Amino acid sequence: MGSTGTRRHGDKAAAIAEAAARLRAGEIVAFPTETVYGLGALATDGQAVAKVFEAKGRPSFNPLIVHVADLAAAEALAVFDAEARALAGRFWPGPLTLVLPLREGHGLSPLATAGLDTVGLRVPAHPVARALLAAVGGPVAAPSANRSGRLSPTRLDHVTSGLGDALGGAVEGGACAVGVESAILRTRPLALLREGGLPAEEIEAVLGRPLPRDLTPGRVQAPGQLSSHYAPGLPVRLNVTERAPDALLIGFGPVAGDLTLSASGDLREAAAALFDTLHRADALARERGRARLDVAPIPEVGLGRAIVDRLTRAAAPRNG
Ligand code: AMP
Ligand code: MG
Repeated sequence: MGSTGTRRHGDKAAAIAEAAARLRAGEIVAFPTETVYGLGALATDGQAVAKVFEAKGRPSFNPLIVHVADLAAAEALAVFDAEARALAGRFWPGPLTLVLPLREGHGLSPLATAGLDTVGLRVPAHPVARALLAAVGGPVAAPSANRSGRLSPTRLDHVTSGLGDALGGAVEGGACAVGVESAILRTRPLALLREGGLPAEEIEAVLGRPLPRDLTPGRVQAPGQLSSHYAPGLPVRLNVTERAPDALLIGFGPVAGDLTLSASGDLREAAAALFDTLHRADALARERGRARLDVAPIPEVGLGRAIVDRLTRAAAPRNG
């Protein structure tokens, strides 16, 4: 094997370059961060992000943490105020996720943000993650690289035993030093959304005041928290196969509709198109004087369950 030091270094660089190429090509790749292993997808590519939900078997589209190489890359996606910048300056790279308002023209797939008008951003500290993000040159959405409901992976063999065949690639990075997920902080209004790898006391020391907690699980998923661009203003009815004169029909597969989530009945394509289609359907319905959105049946398998979950929330009566 000769001088293994140089050789291993070269292998690692090649593995990172290969993983970056796969991410840019829309594949999903597991990679190490200092918190846990992430399952990454290019955050601007809706179909790639859909593959993450598919591989994890997630029953709902919750927002994913978007990983970037540095503060400058983060500021291209979200609006930082002085306090957010101070926190990023002190704790990035590191196990702190900041939830910030999206910047105009951010280019992220709404599937990565679950249609919210905010984004959770983080600059990870693990050298492999940093090198990978620099090589990708774009934002990478990455939840933990485990099947939904299973433990977060802190070693590559945890990842491969859980997700194996679903992966487009995986990069070795040893055992994760922090081993728990990042702390998640929303800056406006200020609240800790998830306890994590950065202790709340350290954040409070920088802010100079106590940190309110908002740890209610699932809160972020309430229809009222969807960006107004993606929360349809009209009532939604599911499982409709026939066009009705007073409704706009969103098709899927054999049910053509006025517009369609996927003409070929492809759930990955439908997931990637979901938020944008709701947005366009709402506008089109108003234009044509239709009072309701009807949606064709979606098979409740794989990604279909998360699509139906989101549509069911859209269909739920609003309580203001
Ligand atoms: P993970 O599965 O580790 O990627 O963590 C994702 C979690 O981050 C979500 O379930 C939310 O709790 C939180 N999160 C990400 N983005 C946002 C956001 N824009 N607003 C509120 N919470 C967010
Ligand atoms: Mg997780």
